[in-house]
Amino acid sequence: MRLIENVVRSAAGPRAIRRDIHAHPELRFEEHRTSDLVAATLQGYGIPVHRGLGGTGVVGIIRSGSSKRAIGLRADMDALPMQEVNTFAHRSRFDGRMHACGHDGHTAMLLAAAHHLAANRSFDGSVVLIFQPAEEGGAGARKMIEEGLFDRFACDAVFALHNWPGLPVGHFGVRPGPIMASTNEFQIRVDGLGGHAAMPHLTVDPVLAAAQVVQGLQSVVTRERRPIDAAVLSLTMFHAGSASNVIPDSATLGGTVRTFDDAVTDLIEQRIRRVSQLTAQAHGASADVTFQRVYPPTVNHPQEAEFAAQLAQDVFGANHVVRNVEPTMAAEDFAFMLRERPGAYLFIGNGDGDHRDAGHGAGPCNLHNAAYDFNDDLIPIGGTFWVRLAERFLAP
Ligand SMILES: [Zn+2]
Ligand SMILES: [Zn+2]
Repeated sequence: MRLIENVVRSAAGPRAIRRDIHAHPELRFEEHRTSDLVAATLQGYGIPVHRGLGGTGVVGIIRSGSSKRAIGLRADMDALPMQEVNTFAHRSRFDGRMHACGHDGHTAMLLAAAHHLAANRSFDGSVVLIFQPAEEGGAGARKMIEEGLFDRFACDAVFALHNWPGLPVGHFGVRPGPIMASTNEFQIRVDGLGGHAAMPHLTVDPVLAAAQVVQGLQSVVTRERRPIDAAVLSLTMFHAGSASNVIPDSATLGGTVRTFDDAVTDLIEQRIRRVSQLTAQAHGASADVTFQRVYPPTVNHPQEAEFAAQLAQDVFGANHVVRNVEPTMAAEDFAFMLRERPGAYLFIGNGDGDHRDAGHGAGPCNLHNAAYDFNDDLIPIGGTFWVRLAERFLAP
């Protein structure tokens, strides 16, 4: 592992910022304090800053030489609406808000790289530092793109890192092709005809019809999807009724679909509609289906994934890079950037949780767990990765 000496020496600054952001988490599109802090820090490094894309988005540009080539490096800034159980000094100051996905750390790693890149400028071209809002379900990346991110700041490729609990510190995971799934939400309203529970023959029972829909939908993934196409269909909500002696007028179901391929999503959406409508009809009821595509799958471009893997291998050692890391069914807003530009998304090992300060919660140090904390040892590692990636991509 060949960390950049200056990044290691300067890590205390980004580390303090990371803990400050952790203590002051902000939810999607409300990252005002975080955005101010990031912008002021970049300006302090002598980096020009552009603000306002996606509302709270921050873009910093570091130029060197005369090349028109540019690389985009993305960090996310938002926290989650959940209660932190840690009691250490940098715990969240706000009830119901927590940096449980490590976006505080992603921001700090990119600041560490920005500090070094601005001071040294040993590359030819532009490094575009992208600090995005609302990764957690708010599609902040899509909003920045819609508001002109890549029109105003040309990028030949874009890259992003996500800390990965369970993967050892100093290790990276990447793969060509899909690395995270699409996320899609659906709702099914089954309309029957309510009435007295003692006279079911005078009603159309939406609860029974909806229960059959739940059963029927299990056949979509097991019987209709090609077995080699990964997919999840989970029904997570079933709401009906308000009294034990009343058959309600309607029942509402909801859930999520995850795939690695839009064609598989298309198939599942179509089958959800068919099974729901025809099953409801069989019971004299009707079904109204809404299906919403939230994030597309995160699909790494093979050439950029290989470029990043090779770089990580050269800097951190071959045995520190998992080149065909298992993809996950979680989803990631960076997917929208990879639809606009070539690039890759990598995991950076967050370790097993031993790094946590005394006073951490009893839970495992997993993403979205109330006892999670980002591992500050990653700041010089991620910072070095970003610097070397940019320098190689923009080699004179
Ligand atoms: Zn998350
Ligand atoms: Zn995250």
